[in-house]
Amino acid sequence: MSTATLAPARPILSDRLLAMAESSTLAMARMARELKAEGHDVIALSLGEPDFDTPEHIKEAAKRALDAGYTKYTPVNGLPELRDAIVRKFERDNNLSYDANQIVVSNGAKQSIANLCLALLNPGDEAIVLAPDWVSYYEQIKLAGGTAVVLKTSVDEDYKVTPERLAAALSDKTRFVLFSSPCNPTGSVYHRSELEAFAKTLEDYPDVIVISDEIYEYIQFGREHVSIASLPGMIDRTVTVNGFAKGFAMTGWRLGYIGAPQWLASACAKVQGQITSGANAFAQRAAADALDADLGPTLAMRNAFQKRRDLVIEELKTVPGFRCNVPEGAFYVFPDVSALFGKANGDTRVDSADDLATYLLQEAHVATVSGSGFGNDDCIRISFAASEEQLREAMARIRKAVSVLE
Ligand code: PMP
Ligand code: GLU
Repeated sequence: MSTATLAPARPILSDRLLAMAESSTLAMARMARELKAEGHDVIALSLGEPDFDTPEHIKEAAKRALDAGYTKYTPVNGLPELRDAIVRKFERDNNLSYDANQIVVSNGAKQSIANLCLALLNPGDEAIVLAPDWVSYYEQIKLAGGTAVVLKTSVDEDYKVTPERLAAALSDKTRFVLFSSPCNPTGSVYHRSELEAFAKTLEDYPDVIVISDEIYEYIQFGREHVSIASLPGMIDRTVTVNGFAKGFAMTGWRLGYIGAPQWLASACAKVQGQITSGANAFAQRAAADALDADLGPTLAMRNAFQKRRDLVIEELKTVPGFRCNVPEGAFYVFPDVSALFGKANGDTRVDSADDLATYLLQEAHVATVSGSGFGNDDCIRISFAASEEQLREAMARIRKAVSVLE
């Protein structure tokens, strides 16, 4: 009930919040939804989300879990049967031996990484990010009071940081090194020899942690997946981050996890014990079944993504001004579009990746994401987690809109 004497509170927000950028992936997804709601035929290649539904057996497992009473709080670090299944998964797929109490299950890998930033960073600490990188890394590091040292790369380097550059960036201030492989947004994969060289650079920095985001592990085209934690001496120096969103098409279930040194797993559980109390109980029960079940549906999705990757790469060869690497994993392509900067269509100028993403949304009704939030503002990110028909149509629209820029 309001009274005449009380004025509405002014919108005074914390400096922390004001310093934070909105997630550009989610912002673009919102704009695409809004344009669609106005009746436009928008093809949304903005959000990194499989277009497949969660496999039926996992949905059935969640229904059974509800009926079986998985409706209460779980231990903060996760249901014991899920942590046991994750231990088995790490053994089976990654050659990693963790104890169940080294596993922490969270509300998405996004929260896993936020927990780590909050647990590890003091003001003045540096976190090295291998770029291009996923939009939330930088903001989460900042939120935790750390300073992100972003190592930028270009399409000509297959968007990969060399060990020499990593070695040059490491210092006594470095707390951790963070990267995803397969990478969001480039689809690049760090190979075994490259990971070995990274591990070697850490020999002189015994307290530096590696955070290895492997959420696209199952979406890899013709390569074995290598976890950096499986290299000699690295298990006690590495946090392996993974989740269910991509490989099992479970984005909305909000489930991610880490395998970490014991002290760090306990710290992450302490953080989330004060913030979320842990993840959803019946989703966790179903996720345990997902890990132990046959990975057939995951492999089928992987194969579909590979076909789409091939299609999009072929199509983009015919778009003037787009230069691509060939992604070895994930479901993104990250063309360098800087050759288009300075061109215009009538009054609409394209001077940046932000401008091009806006132009493609307005002119072609194709939603992409500017590379500026991903640590490379010469590029845009295109998700190919859409049907082949939608992808063909989207590429034709992009080609048409770009061809008229002069
Ligand atoms: N890491 C990377 C590299 C991602 O692309 C994403 C986006 N899904 C996440 C982490 C977060 O995943 P989740 O949906 O499990 O929070
Ligand atoms: N990770 C996905 C993406 O990059 C989902 C959106 C998000 O959380 O950023 O688009």
